[in-house]
Parts: sequence; structure tokens; C-alpha cells
Amino acid sequence: MSKRIVCKFGGSSVADAKQFKKVKSITDANPARKIIVVSAPGKRSPEETKLTDLFYSAYDLAKKSLDYSEPWNMISQRFSEIAQELNLSNAINTELEQINLQLKDKSETLSSDYLASRGEYLNAILIAEYLDAEFIDAFPIISFDDKYRISPNTYNNIAKAIEDESKVYVIPGFYGSDLHGQIKTFSRGGSDITGAILANAIDAALYENWTDVSGMLMADPRIVKDPKPIEYISYREIRELAYSGASVLHDESISPCRAKNIPINIKNTNKPEDYGTIIGPTPQSSKHPITGVAGRKGFSMIYIEKTMMNKEIGFGRRVLAILEYEGLSYELSPSAIDSMNIVVDSKELYAVQESVLENITQQMRPDQLKVFTGISLIATVGHGMTDKIGVAATLFNALADNSINVRIIDQGSSQINIIIGVSESETERAIQSIYKAFIN
Ligand code: ASP
Repeated sequence: MSKRIVCKFGGSSVADAKQFKKVKSITDANPARKIIVVSAPGKRSPEETKLTDLFYSAYDLAKKSLDYSEPWNMISQRFSEIAQELNLSNAINTELEQINLQLKDKSETLSSDYLASRGEYLNAILIAEYLDAEFIDAFPIISFDDKYRISPNTYNNIAKAIEDESKVYVIPGFYGSDLHGQIKTFSRGGSDITGAILANAIDAALYENWTDVSGMLMADPRIVKDPKPIEYISYREIRELAYSGASVLHDESISPCRAKNIPINIKNTNKPEDYGTIIGPTPQSSKHPITGVAGRKGFSMIYIEKTMMNKEIGFGRRVLAILEYEGLSYELSPSAIDSMNIVVDSKELYAVQESVLENITQQMRPDQLKVFTGISLIATVGHGMTDKIGVAATLFNALADNSINVRIIDQGSSQINIIIGVSESETERAIQSIYKAFIN
């Protein structure tokens, strides 16, 4: 097996010359760090705009034949500051001029995805020069199929393009090519996915994801004061927590690593000595019965009640078919003997609510049909809870002691997640109570 490590550096890790120097000392510190994936320069301070967003605004303005010089000058300035401070060649100036011309002429090759991808492209050229590494463009090697899934030949293309194990390669994240030979980007934050695909393609020993935090925390620090760090979390646990809003990594970057059991280490570029969080295949015993707690607002619950529902064959299937027909996906469906709850995203429901309710009324003839809005789903996750007695009791006692009304209970069939639904206004208090009950 290959011993190479894939390192992805996020926007804040490559935001300016000072950050480039940190990247160099990190890559120099371990000779196995051979594959470097980079984002576009991110924010240097909270009020600054990411370069990707500046590219999007330049595109929007140019498309409307409006003056795009403001975002464009900011883009050029950020790149030239980096190049100047690090004494790099002016190779990217020609590239910038060309892109500017395409904007001016509104050329045919100009698309929003193309322009947005230029942040990673230009940054990777600069970093490759600074690290004395080989630049490899993502465009010819990462390709999408007609459904915008990664096409199977991508993995072979990558393996071939970066096969020399003695070399250091720098690859821009966030984009590839579509079936028509045009640039196609991943969704926002997608450089994480590029890194994961590269790790899969070369059977990397490890995928290091370098960012500006020292890994994941057991709860959102804006809600819980000084939550404990998560040193280790399994792929399954992170999937459950990420769904509920805890995230430092794009969720689509888990499965390429999971397919090959490649561990992911989230590390802090500004504090490389910190351990960070390892995301790995096997559950590991931890000091605490739970690995983390996270919550997400914005859900609604469709409540359907009908006497003898349990004897009406196909009732659930027909209700879900109505949702399917309206293109509405559901999150959970806890049910009782004569009632069924379907939890859906409030924004998605809003668009089709009237016809969903009308169809349920006509086709299912319920005794009661109601929609409850303003619900939060809170996930308490951990492999540790499967074989421990009293986890659910601790959780519900904590909520009862704090007078928090639980509206939905779902002990996930995954066995590693207890999801509860509370009113949105209780989200923070519920998370605080659960955290405090388990972690001390
Ligand atoms: N630059 C892109 C974004 O801001 C992709 C990334 O950083 O991962 O979303």
C-alpha cells in the first residue's frame, strides 16, 4: 500500500503569504505529505470576502454587462500580494489577463462554474511554485457523468497523473469537467471532496484536512461553553452528527475515504501540533457514553391520525407516495398504532404544503391532519450508547429536569443515535442539558 498522505488546505489556510509559509513548514515536516489539494484564498478576517465569492460576483456583474472592476481588482490584488511577498514569478498574471478578457468579451467558455474554479486554479499554481512541486490541473483528471456523479475513470486518471511517489503534487480542489468538456464545480466547500477522491485513487495512508480549528468538538461552542474535543469519531458517527449540523468537513468527502478505510485527520494549520480529530472506520471506546450532540432547526411535522391505521394495509406506503409525487423528501417518520408523523424540511414543505395536505385528505381520509412547524431535531450520537444501560434515561431526565418538552423521539435504527424533536426555541437549552448530563 502506498504510504503517501493527501493534505487538503482550506481557504483560511491558504489566504495569504503568511499562511503559505505555514503550509510549507507543514509539508516539509513530513516527507509522506506528497499530494497537496488547495482551496481558493479564503478570508483573512471575518469581515473579508472569500475569493470564490468575489469570482461569483465578478461573473454576475460581467454577465449583466455591469462594471465588475471592484471584485476583479480585489481578486488581482490578493493574488499579486501573495506572489510579491513570496518572490514568485508572475506566471499567473498572464492567466489573470486572459480571464479578464473572457469576462470583458463575455466569451462562450465563460460560465459561473468556470469562473468560480479559477480561485483554486490560480492558487494551486502559486502554491506549486512556492513548494517547488508539480502543478496538476483537476480539469482533465476529475470528470462527472450525466448525473454529476464522479465518473469511474476519474480514479484511474488520478492514479496515473500522480503516480511518481517521489514527487510532491499540487492539485486545485473544487472542480472537474463535465460530459461536454466544460468546467463543473462541486457544491460549496467541495475541495474537501477533491481531497477525498484523490486519497481513494492512490490508496493514501491518510487524508489530512487542514483547516482553522483543531478538529471537531462534542458540541457547538456557540451553544455549549468550552465543549470537549473529539479525538476520534467513526465514519458512521460523523455522518449522523454532520446531518444534524455539526460539520467541519463536506459530508460528501466521507464516502470516498470510507470505501477504502482511509482515516481522515482534521488538523489546524495555525496550530499544527494539536492532535485534531481522527475520523476512522472502527468504533473506538471513549471516556464518554456519547461522542457528540448537535441540533438543526427548520423542520415541520405532518401529523396524521386515523383509527385502525395499523390494519389498513399500504397506508404508510400511500402517504409516502404522495410526498414522492410532490418531490418532498422526509427525514424521519416515527409512528404509533393509529397515527403517523412525518418530519420534513420546513422550506421544502412550504412550497408544496397545500397540495400535499389536500392529497392526504382525499386519498387517506384521516380523522386528523395537522402540521406543526418550528421544530428542531437534536441528535445525540455515540457507539458508546449501544451497550450502555440508562443512556436514554439520562437524556430524557436531563430534558425533564430542565422542563423541555420532547415532541418527537426516534432512537435511530442505526443504534448509535437518539434523535429528539423539540420546539426551535428550546434548541440551545436542550443541547446544553444533554451535554451537561453526559459530560462532566
Ligand atoms: N472555494 C470553494 C468554496 O469557497 C471550495 C472550497 O473552498 O472548498 O466553496
